[in-house]
Amino acid sequence: MSKKYRVGILGATGTVGQRFIQLLENHPQFEITALAASDRSQGKKFVEACNWKLASAMPDYVKQLRVHAIEPNLDCDVVFSSLPSSVAKETEEAFARAGYPVISNSSSFRMEEDVPLLIPEINAEHLGLIETQKKRRGFDKGFIVTNPNCAVISFTPPLAALNEKFGVESVFVTTMQAISGAGYPGVASLDINDNVFPFISGEEPKVETEAQKILGKYKASGIEIADFTVSAQCFRVNVIDGHLASVRVKLKKRATLEDVRDAMTNFPALKLHSSPKQFIMVCDEPERPQPRLDRDNGKGMSITVGRLFPDNIFDYRFVALSHNTIRGAAGAAILNAELLIDKRLI
Ligand code: NAP
Repeated sequence: MSKKYRVGILGATGTVGQRFIQLLENHPQFEITALAASDRSQGKKFVEACNWKLASAMPDYVKQLRVHAIEPNLDCDVVFSSLPSSVAKETEEAFARAGYPVISNSSSFRMEEDVPLLIPEINAEHLGLIETQKKRRGFDKGFIVTNPNCAVISFTPPLAALNEKFGVESVFVTTMQAISGAGYPGVASLDINDNVFPFISGEEPKVETEAQKILGKYKASGIEIADFTVSAQCFRVNVIDGHLASVRVKLKKRATLEDVRDAMTNFPALKLHSSPKQFIMVCDEPERPQPRLDRDNGKGMSITVGRLFPDNIFDYRFVALSHNTIRGAAGAAILNAELLIDKRLI
């Protein structure tokens, strides 16, 4: 049997931490050996510290594990971080410096020029930045890789498909983001019931910049950022899981509707354990995608696109959906770790 990597989870008791625990149960390459969270949870057994909110039961194998402090002395080979950005920067850097590969969900390092912002199907070559990062920061074995913001992941794969074939010139995106994207307890019920909330702190700048780094060209010194502009408005909506993005895109070259559809449908998937068979699923039913019906496509790892039509102002418009705590967080980080193993970087 191949080696299982011992995994630590920073922020294990949170919304994303719980998803890590659920997705890593019976994973062929990883086993959880360390959990860490805030001083509210430290020293307690996980079953006592965690207010488990997922539909499946808390796996037995984590119940008796003690929750540790977020200090770089955890008994594991790799750490997944789902810490709030307020503590992630200092902590993730400390773990990397202490020799741990850090696979992060947090926004703290995503836009740093020596840190890969990864979607394995799109920009695996950005992993070349790890060597630059180690040299620049004086890391030995440790390093940091990140996955995109949970709304950015919904529309960047279809843009990648279009950018590769026709070039993307500009994008207008409106996101409708699920409540679980704000963590637990998240948004007050009086703000979100019977309502659409038109402000998510710090979100629009992320949605306007991350796709250009992801679709940028790798150079050893950094990423040459892709040259399209994104204009974004981000809304919180009364949905539990699943971020929906309404997208209008202007292309550099002319493309028929069939070309655009084919580019998305034929965008290759990978053969890693957590990869979906179909990376971008394009549906033709007029009323799809919907968060409740489509967020679990590809076990929550596919991007579902629909409502694809020519646009009167831009060239094309479509709606894209992804599961924010799976493809937008824990599942994305696990896929990144599987890619790192595949590339022999851990
Ligand atoms: P959450 O539900 O609020 O969980 C936060 C976790 O961090 C908990 O385990 C909490 O531990 C721990 N924590 C909080 N403050 C800490 C401190 N000072 N020191 C140590 N641990 C601390 O948040 P979340 O939704 O899981 O989000 C976690 C991170 O992932 C954030 O950076 C977020 O932006 C990012 N992210 C979230 C999503 C999503 O859909 N939710 C998607 C992508 C990325 P206690 O339980 O002990 O307080």
